[in-house]
Amino acid sequence: MPGLSAAPQEVPDLQAFILQLQTALQARDFETYLAAFAPGLRAAQRDSLDLIFDRLKMETVALHLANKGSLDPQQPRGFVQAVYQNPYSAIIETWQLGLEPAPGGWLIKDKIVRGNVSQLYKIKLPSGPPDRVDAVEVRHIDIRLAFRNALVFYDNVPGLDTALLIIGEGSLVFSPSDPSESHQLSLTHKSPRLQDSVSYAFIRCSPSFFGRNISIQKKPGPAKAPASKAEINLAASLFRKLGSHYFTIQTPLSAEPLSFVPQGDEAAIEFQGRKTGELSYVYSPFANEEVILYNRTRGLFVNFYSPAPEKDKRRLFVSFGQKSNVESYEIETAFEPENFRLSARARIQVLANVDGLDSISLKFNPSLEILRVYDSQRRELFFTQDSGGRLIYVYFLEPVAARRRMTIEIFYRGRLVPPPQVNDAITAGQQSETVVFMGPRYETYFYSQSAYWYPAPPEEDFFTARMKIIVPPGYTSIANGRLLEEGTLNGLQRVTELDKAGSDYAVYEIGTPVRYLSFLVGRLSLTEEGLAGSLPLTCYVASDVRWLRRNFLEDTRKILAFYQNLFGPFPFDNLRIVQRLWQSAGGHSPASFLVVNELPRRTDATGALVPLVPSPNSPVDLSHWKDYFLAHEIAHQWWGQGVTAATYRDQWLSEGLSQFAAALYLRSKHGEEAFSAILKKFSKWTGKKSRWGEITLGSRLSYVDFEAYQAIIYNKAALVLNMLRDLMGDERFFAGLRGFFARYRGSTASTGQFRAAMEAAAGRGLADFFDPWFNSHELAEVRVGRTVDRSGETSVIRIRIDQPGRPFVFPLWISWKGADGAARREKVLVEQKNQEFEILAPGPVRDVVVNPDKAVPGGFNAKKG
Ligand SMILES: [Zn+2]
Repeated sequence: MPGLSAAPQEVPDLQAFILQLQTALQARDFETYLAAFAPGLRAAQRDSLDLIFDRLKMETVALHLANKGSLDPQQPRGFVQAVYQNPYSAIIETWQLGLEPAPGGWLIKDKIVRGNVSQLYKIKLPSGPPDRVDAVEVRHIDIRLAFRNALVFYDNVPGLDTALLIIGEGSLVFSPSDPSESHQLSLTHKSPRLQDSVSYAFIRCSPSFFGRNISIQKKPGPAKAPASKAEINLAASLFRKLGSHYFTIQTPLSAEPLSFVPQGDEAAIEFQGRKTGELSYVYSPFANEEVILYNRTRGLFVNFYSPAPEKDKRRLFVSFGQKSNVESYEIETAFEPENFRLSARARIQVLANVDGLDSISLKFNPSLEILRVYDSQRRELFFTQDSGGRLIYVYFLEPVAARRRMTIEIFYRGRLVPPPQVNDAITAGQQSETVVFMGPRYETYFYSQSAYWYPAPPEEDFFTARMKIIVPPGYTSIANGRLLEEGTLNGLQRVTELDKAGSDYAVYEIGTPVRYLSFLVGRLSLTEEGLAGSLPLTCYVASDVRWLRRNFLEDTRKILAFYQNLFGPFPFDNLRIVQRLWQSAGGHSPASFLVVNELPRRTDATGALVPLVPSPNSPVDLSHWKDYFLAHEIAHQWWGQGVTAATYRDQWLSEGLSQFAAALYLRSKHGEEAFSAILKKFSKWTGKKSRWGEITLGSRLSYVDFEAYQAIIYNKAALVLNMLRDLMGDERFFAGLRGFFARYRGSTASTGQFRAAMEAAAGRGLADFFDPWFNSHELAEVRVGRTVDRSGETSVIRIRIDQPGRPFVFPLWISWKGADGAARREKVLVEQKNQEFEILAPGPVRDVVVNPDKAVPGGFNAKKG
């Protein structure tokens, strides 16, 4: 009798089957290849082979099976990445194959091809003898480059105009149509328009840009001298240097970089000016601000704007929105402090906002190596890297429908030294004595937004997260959110390759959406624990701090109570404070924890060790008043974390509001005289640095002049907020702030949205106030006339205000002393170019001062009469 059960069906080897397909294609044995398909599919497959091999002239094929270990026996499917290449281009396709077992392997029942990545090019230059031409002109919006008697080198891709190198004597004129941008040019390059001679230009652009914006003139006549060996070598070396700056990606599937063809009117033009150095002009029609001028020699973003004629068109792009949202992270990372090595697995949940979402881009530090990317079915995903843009692109095997979620998992590792802290960094005074430092050892490792230590969404997404951080014994880690679990790993708990027996681990979870993730590792001791209301507070000190240990708990409670009253509830469910040693004073404040820096000690003239102090010349430092740093950093939990700046131009919503919050707290703690001194310091620095740009130039100012960035984004913004408070009155002003915070909590906000919230609270329009103070680098220039008349028992103080330049709206304090010597003050509202005020005061008055705290920045000059 035959056996009751059939012999177990052998599952054919899918990997071997895919390899057979590859061998057949490679050998152009199309009949063998087509025989692997069901008969009904063969005609269409033959057409696609014609397209790829005959028309697109591909020469090599590589097939990579993505789902090696996960074949569903009920419904067998293969996911394949097909890479076709020839000397100048590549095509990368994703195939989804429906399969059924067949004698000797498999039969393909259906095949869906997704061209996730369209044709890519291996651009090379020079590719042949260049043209010697009479004139070349490149003209676009506000820029013009013109060459005479130039050599023109074309790329190696037949029939595609996307790259061009011009060498010769050229001239450049760049004249931004935006007045604020030409002001920036005046500051950085000493002229509102850039005029220079240039020696070359390398252009990468879309074929339509090439056709419309580049003209090449060659007079008929006898052939001109061919290019010399030296000229050809120069072209080759320029291309090596510039060729992969823009529109180029790296992928593990290709040994050499691959280029996209720019879309729409996209273009990047790189050139070298005789005086100005190496510059890049980049036009991105799909960006919020389309024009960028970058000075590569100085590492400086000079201009970044929307040219005037584009302003109406720009609105079209807003409605596109983001194609996807990152919703949550689950990160497991092992960190080795002694060599800065990070090994991690990040599981990222993404929500599709559009139908057919086929890829996602993430910001990521190019010095970390990506090992593998998987989807939720553990199928390996194809990815590309744009190291210049610090981006990775991950391509899905199956498109995701709108409102559906998908999870990707990225394994990565590498050495990552924490980058220097940019915000809230105040250098130590007495820099020249750095050499006598007692060789401080900094024993904390802090990774935050600027480290790009995990694959982060490029847009200002908000997401929740769970992070497991594994560190060697003796180290402690702090991250965003609540501590769910901590302990020491034993051999049995090993879940992934990251779990090393004997290591300590901690799991943090943040359920309130945040904008970025941070963690700090160090030898930390718990110093204080307690509650502020119902909010758990935990304080740690790092091993390197030693003699400078401070107690933060009580002051933190007071600051939190003060801010909750002004701004609304604390936005997260706990707060941790880490005190550590660092080379700059200040701190940093990621969601739900803050890091307070102490400066190391130095040896003084007598040989004694004394702590360094923050530089007295810092524009932002108010540490003369105790608790400044703590108050500024805690304020960031509301301003910067709870609500985030929508763009770099709105950076003051983080720094200006935090600085103002700290000033208000210091006023409540140290009194009105302290507040007046703080306003005067803000005003002095605003006067000194204001010309560098308007508040809405935002973090760009930090590239140009770091002190100007601090003076304008922290201090001028704080002064402007204080004027707004005087203008609206405390009750309406703080109601406006609370309303703004409640509305935009857990999302981004712009300067315009802030204005609208304050207008709602003020019950009036505030454009006259906002526009000059936020959008201009100018300050109020005021002539003040002042008389005091006695009329019986009353004095009449008459103030006349004239603003010969641009009129500003501002509340203005006038102070005087009465007969008893007591100080009095009154506020008036200046709303016009020329205005007169009368203040009636009982008895005689003396020492009349206009703008006594210098709370209105600018020039107040006495006028006779
Ligand atoms: Zn700050």
